[in-house]
Amino acid sequence: MVRLVKLSNEAAVKLGFRDFYALQLALNEQDETSLLGFFDQLDALTTASFTEAKTRIDGVQARRLDVPASELMPWDYTDRFFQEAPNLSDVDMDAPLAGKDIGKLVASFYRGIGLDAEPILARSDLYEHKGKNPHAFSQDIDRNGDVRALLNIKPNQTWLGTTPHELGHGVHEYNINRSLPNLLRVEDSIFATEGFAMMMERLAENAAFYRAMALVDETTLAKLGAPMEEKERMQGLIFSRWTQVMLRFEKDLYANPEKDLDALWWRLVERYQGIKRPAVPFRSAAGSAANSRPSSSRSPGRLVQAMAVE
Ligand SMILES: [Zn+2]
Repeated sequence: MVRLVKLSNEAAVKLGFRDFYALQLALNEQDETSLLGFFDQLDALTTASFTEAKTRIDGVQARRLDVPASELMPWDYTDRFFQEAPNLSDVDMDAPLAGKDIGKLVASFYRGIGLDAEPILARSDLYEHKGKNPHAFSQDIDRNGDVRALLNIKPNQTWLGTTPHELGHGVHEYNINRSLPNLLRVEDSIFATEGFAMMMERLAENAAFYRAMALVDETTLAKLGAPMEEKERMQGLIFSRWTQVMLRFEKDLYANPEKDLDALWWRLVERYQGIKRPAVPFRSAAGSAANSRPSSSRSPGRLVQAMAVE
């Protein structure tokens, strides 16, 4: 990864930029000083709420694992990089989705709001198979209606969110005016398309959506309501702290790929996510982060969510 970073930097310097990070910001028409200022502001706005949420999570995890909260380690959380809010209740949010066809369900939702996702689904690779990329994305192949998504749908809450997210990008791309010149037939701004996709994704965190899609009856709805609301609220906070880590890690990584990246990584994780650095060297962490869920393309929408929480 460090070799790739150096090569990217070389190319960026040739084009007159400080490093690849500066080049990427310029391509996204973002000003570095104001972006970092925005993240500092977001940090200040979320610190108290995040600390409160983290204390509650630590309390529940410590009870579940039967260890003192002060001894919780990175691997004691429900996902590898503490990017997602855990379900702190005993209610199973996946159970109502057992045996359901998520693709069909999401297509019917989009039909209901006047957007046709069927042509995209028909061209897409929807389920897991051997050797397939395990993530999810949407791709406009020809800027002329051939929009496809790569998904790995399973009947659970995660994919009830990810599927409308990617199809959100898809319907956006599919509906771009095709009489425009080819060069203009792209998403106008990453902020807009990501914001819409995340708004759609967030429905999966809402018990009323489960009810509206006839996934649960009124009795189950009443049980799901409060735990889902708590999880949704925490999700914005937790993702915003993860984004702080990634933004600052990538900046320093491109500024100096030779530095001690493990130390940099854990300093940021401790500072922003409140997760304890393991005593033993944990060499894979920084490297694996590059293979985790895409961060930069997802962050703007989550940031808006995080601020909305505040
Ligand atoms: Zn997206």
